[in-house]
Amino acid sequence: MTDWQGKHVTVAGLGVSGIPAAKVLHARGAIVTVVNDGDDARAREQAAELEALGITVRLGDGATLPEGTELIVTAPGWKPDKPLFVAAREAGVDIWGDVELAWRLRGPDAAPWLAVTGTNGKTTTVQMLASILKAAGLRTAAVGNIGVSLLDVVLGEEQYDVLAVELSSYQLHWAPSLRAHSAAVLNLAPDHLDWHGSMEAYAADKGRVYEGNRVACVYNVADKATEDLVREADVEEGCRAIGFTLGTPGPSQLGVVDGILVDRAFVENRHKNAQELAEVSDVNPPAPHNIANALAAAALARAFGVPAAAVRDGLRNFTPDAHRIAHVADVSGVAYIDDSKATNTHAAEASLAAYESIVWIAGGLAKGATFDELVAKSAKRLRGVVLIGKDRALIREALARHAPEVPVVDLDRTDTGAMLAAVREAQRLAAAGDTVLLAPACASMDMFANYNKRGDAFAEAVRELGA
Ligand code: ADP
Repeated sequence: MTDWQGKHVTVAGLGVSGIPAAKVLHARGAIVTVVNDGDDARAREQAAELEALGITVRLGDGATLPEGTELIVTAPGWKPDKPLFVAAREAGVDIWGDVELAWRLRGPDAAPWLAVTGTNGKTTTVQMLASILKAAGLRTAAVGNIGVSLLDVVLGEEQYDVLAVELSSYQLHWAPSLRAHSAAVLNLAPDHLDWHGSMEAYAADKGRVYEGNRVACVYNVADKATEDLVREADVEEGCRAIGFTLGTPGPSQLGVVDGILVDRAFVENRHKNAQELAEVSDVNPPAPHNIANALAAAALARAFGVPAAAVRDGLRNFTPDAHRIAHVADVSGVAYIDDSKATNTHAAEASLAAYESIVWIAGGLAKGATFDELVAKSAKRLRGVVLIGKDRALIREALARHAPEVPVVDLDRTDTGAMLAAVREAQRLAAAGDTVLLAPACASMDMFANYNKRGDAFAEAVRELGA
């Protein structure tokens, strides 16, 4: 659908993706109706802005399919079983997400996409990838689910050689024709299952990222489910499956040998069977899961033809975003680490695996998760645990089952001083050489506005200890 003149398009959801989508389609001659569930002051303000342009907006009615709709463009978070979509499917109307729209509207000379998805590590990996591509002198940006609208980027003035694109499972669900140059699925663990309906459906949506890849499908050797997705994908002829591993790499893999990141998939010198890329100490922080992220980023960059030296420089130039295994301070020989972004059990497991003797601060909103596996795997590293937040009993019960000897402080507080109290308790449990790790394995919204605020409260509390 390239001629938009007179097409009836329904945009589902005001907001970061809906407003630009409505404006672009209207500017191209489509007859746009925006439908939105909410009808609050903010929505009215946004609606007024669109109505002034001549776009129809229906507030408080996201369920009914407007008469004559030929295409729906939806916000990524809208669930597939919504009545609007059921009606659309019955009427044979296509449904695109914001990514699909950006993909279709990109120009003929548009930059290729190197795409990253997975349950955890997406943002870090696309940022590392962008840093590596920049070190190679390429014009690039980290875009997509990272908070930078693909639509804005593909329609903007700026020229790019290649884009490092973070995609969520929701975005992939609604992007049927997206074809990346190369893509990586970092890992797969249960998350957002209420939205997707099942683990199989979630994995299938993640696997969409490999469809039609031209050069490489990058998978995690330690996570067989990612390799299975590569096998199931329909790719261009000549596209290769490239693995990354924290161990010694096999052929067509990147891995680690004696503290060096090594590439056996894209070797420049045909007399050698491996190419050294960087040292483990070039990765910031050099925690195991983060080295995995670096290898995935390196694999995508190498698939795009980036030389080894740029991988090293790009990794050295990279600094992680706040609240991702951030070292806050050392107080009396104890390191205080903020991994507030560990909002699910899979992420928390990765950060707990990065330290030896830990006082763990955990808890918050569990989002339906169970904690037995996480606690059982991490038990031997725990010196003590401080529990906060609404669903802390779930973690306490798992600790009683799998780590009964570990001392637990159960903080029944949700007031603004609760994090300081938690950090004080952690300090009491810790000995010199230990790590106090905030890796909550839960969402933050029971006590904080978001994970950033939770991490800030932790850092503030640590500073008070040190003061
Ligand atoms: P995402 O964008 O997928 O949410 P981030 O890069 O923001 O991922 O990292 C979120 C959290 O996930 C980090 O704070 C860390 O606890 C954890 N994490 C990062 N990379 C990995 C990985 N490869 N495997 C497991 N957990 C990870």
